[in-house]
Amino acid sequence: HKYVYDFSEGNKDLKDLLGGKGANLAEMTNLGLPVPPGFTITTEACQAYLTTGREPDGLAGQIEAHLEALERAMGKRLGDPQDPLLVSVRSGAKFSMPGMMETVLNVGLNDESVVGLSAQAGQNDRFAWDSYRRLIQMFGKTVCEVPGEEFEHALDEAKSAKGTHDDLDLDADDLRGLVDAYKKIFAKHTGREFPQQPREQLDLAIRAVFESWNAERAVLYRRQERIPADLGTAVNVVTMVFGNLGPDSGTGVAFTRDPGSGAQGIYGDYLANAQGEDVVAGIRNTVGLQELEQLDKSSYDELLGIMARLEEHYRDLCDIEFTIERGKLWMLQTRVGKRTAAAAFVIAGQLVDEGLIDLDEALHRVNGAQLAQLMFPRFQLDHEFEAVATGIGASPGAASGTVVFTSARAVELAAEGKSVILVRRETNPDDLNGMIAAQGILTSRGGKTSHAAVVARGMGKTCVSGADAIDVNVPAKRFTVAGQTVNEGDVVSIDGTTGKVYLGEVPVMPSEVVQYFEGSLDPEHIDNALVRAVHRIMTHADGKRRLAVRTNADTGADAARARRFGAEGIGLCRTEHMFLGDRRELVERLILARAADEREAALEALLPLQRADFVEIFREMDGLPVTVRLIDPPLHEFLPPLEQLAVNVAVAQERGEDVAKEEALLAAVRRMHEENPMLGLRGVRLGLVIPGLFAMQVRAIVEAAVECAQSGGDPKPEIMVPLVGAVQELETVRAEAEKIIEEVTREKAVEVLIGTMIEVPRAALTAGQIAEAAQFFSFGTNDLTQMGWGFSRDDVEGAFFWRYLELGIFGISPFESIDRDGVGRLVRIAAEEGRAARPGLKLGVCGEHGGDPDSVHFFHEVGLDYVSCSPFRVPVARLEAGRAVV
Ligand code: ADP
Ligand code: MG
Ligand code: MG
Repeated sequence: HKYVYDFSEGNKDLKDLLGGKGANLAEMTNLGLPVPPGFTITTEACQAYLTTGREPDGLAGQIEAHLEALERAMGKRLGDPQDPLLVSVRSGAKFSMPGMMETVLNVGLNDESVVGLSAQAGQNDRFAWDSYRRLIQMFGKTVCEVPGEEFEHALDEAKSAKGTHDDLDLDADDLRGLVDAYKKIFAKHTGREFPQQPREQLDLAIRAVFESWNAERAVLYRRQERIPADLGTAVNVVTMVFGNLGPDSGTGVAFTRDPGSGAQGIYGDYLANAQGEDVVAGIRNTVGLQELEQLDKSSYDELLGIMARLEEHYRDLCDIEFTIERGKLWMLQTRVGKRTAAAAFVIAGQLVDEGLIDLDEALHRVNGAQLAQLMFPRFQLDHEFEAVATGIGASPGAASGTVVFTSARAVELAAEGKSVILVRRETNPDDLNGMIAAQGILTSRGGKTSHAAVVARGMGKTCVSGADAIDVNVPAKRFTVAGQTVNEGDVVSIDGTTGKVYLGEVPVMPSEVVQYFEGSLDPEHIDNALVRAVHRIMTHADGKRRLAVRTNADTGADAARARRFGAEGIGLCRTEHMFLGDRRELVERLILARAADEREAALEALLPLQRADFVEIFREMDGLPVTVRLIDPPLHEFLPPLEQLAVNVAVAQERGEDVAKEEALLAAVRRMHEENPMLGLRGVRLGLVIPGLFAMQVRAIVEAAVECAQSGGDPKPEIMVPLVGAVQELETVRAEAEKIIEEVTREKAVEVLIGTMIEVPRAALTAGQIAEAAQFFSFGTNDLTQMGWGFSRDDVEGAFFWRYLELGIFGISPFESIDRDGVGRLVRIAAEEGRAARPGLKLGVCGEHGGDPDSVHFFHEVGLDYVSCSPFRVPVARLEAGRAVV
């Protein structure tokens, strides 16, 4: 079995096997770009190691053979005392997991080869000892779990002994001393000396990279990003090149376009005389990549040429890691870069203009989650608010919250429901928990490519990085800025687009994209690359999609807004709110009625109120279908809670007041009490048990429709019966409804459809029968999930879903995204058997799933006619319905 691939043997499509980093190193090698030679150990080897606890047979021999070939090609031997070959051992999984796994640089250095390295570098002792101390530090930390702080501490001591804060002030002797100190730390924690055998170093480092797949933070990151747990990481063994060889050397990162806005230009950070992770870690402040032009024009020009080439080759934004060793440029990594939601749309649009991709591909490259992010509100700024600091807008959005300084505190306060802003000098992978819990992240160091920035962008969290006017004091739990002190518990606001930081809570306003959807920004006439790109891609999606998109709306105002957002009707108009507020009293009268005439009087009083509600909704949705669901919740939800009522009655009796009415109410509440109300007297059952209730609602709907039609409108009412499990239930309701429809529409003809929700599993399984009596089905996937799994949707999320997610019983809550295998199967059966019984049966979905991207794709696949979702999700559903086609 082949476990090791030379860079010349791979290519970019082998990410499953070689990981993203390895596949792209191979691709760049084959493009003839300057990549230091090396080889990749496959993810399969890692998987084998992780399942059996040992390296698979044959791996050691293959590594040996590839190492020998590398040594021949370089004309050096690993760790040779005179002229050592050094390598890095780098993790790299299929999906990028920035900083989550391990990498060890300078493998092959020991007490002898450090001397050889110095000689090789022109008697540069400083460089050689600096490289050696980095090896012991990284190796100790990642391979042998020596606490990193101990090394940091020793380094700080060496600096303060020298009276400096800058690594660069340490000379060769200082660093030699530091190596001794590091070795002692290593021996103290591991009970052995630092390994001097280069090959042993290599093998241990490879094993450590395998194991870093299961590091706690990597596991957490995968869960957050929904990356499967069993992929494993590849390991890249790469010839070392040195950015720390002096001022004519350095290391940097670059993007081919701005990953924040998508704008074209030169984006990146460069740090002279530094190695590897110094840039990302924010050890020293980097300079903008543009400045490299002054420092080293020929490397700069070469880099720009390579970036253009990579963009054209990958037809997308690329990010890059490079190192310059004494004026010679080396490419250490590239990949299709992460980007903000705004940049995703803008870049997709630009690439279409540049002829690199077509509109289908552009649609493919954006998604509903990104669009949802662009619909977040922004800060509304007037003179009251002045920024106290400006950093880098590292990940967009507007976030206000309580300041916290540690990950643990962020998690604590978030659990209490508080919005928090995590403030750090810089973040590191151990802060992941806190970053997940926080609303926003603010750091005083680091650029667009710092850990905080990269991870926040990936999560869609607002982040301002490198706000260096802020002086963060974590132990004291405060920061100072512009002469003011901000303590833990104070509120700040951060704008991840502009990088501005405000004290206090800044009010928010709708984003530009929402203004565009609202119709107040005309994409043809404004100079806004994002709005134009969104418009163009949405238009394409609308042209492609087969699914219609309706909205869930209970009021005229919601209906109007959703219509502006592109809704093509209402898929679910709930009537329960029409029984609330002042109308509660009428509902009480209805419930307490002892005789038919009392009940009829109550219904009589409700009728005109309901009719007026429907008139408003039909007007707003004129010409488009409106599905009205007859009343669904148990009626006692409209009465006061039992205990409260009992107390009130007792108190009033004590005072000698007249409590006849309250007593009657109390008796009714007692009578109507249910142990499992969600499985009780609700939905169609109410209609069958309470005479006249559904009839009143049907009359209100049809009279409203007639009224609209008479005044020239085009109402399209669809009456939907909830919670049907048997065709007989529907038939009974329908017979009564048809009489009313016939009577009312005699005045003015209006077509009224009668259909049912499919939300009880039995309805899905007898859909063929039910379709005989239904003119449409609408899948109520919330209840269908609740009853299909037997999960009480109001309780389970907090009670045990965390455990189910942890165990991988499901990857995402089935209330959030449709469970394709189980609940989805019920949908599929009902769709097929319903249509078999009644060809052309109209099918839709009105659960929360109608606005969930993955679920929209599923509903497209099973052939539904439309999805219905909340007004704000309508654009997301339109986009995803388009994406489901291309
Ligand atoms: P990550 O995936 O966390 O970015 P990398 O494997 O890319 O980790 O390596 C960490 C840092 O070390 C990067 O800055 C990278 O450019 C640098 N690096 C890795 N291999 C080499 C090498 N062979 N020579 C010089 N620098 C290297
Ligand atoms: Mg990297
Ligand atoms: Mg329901």
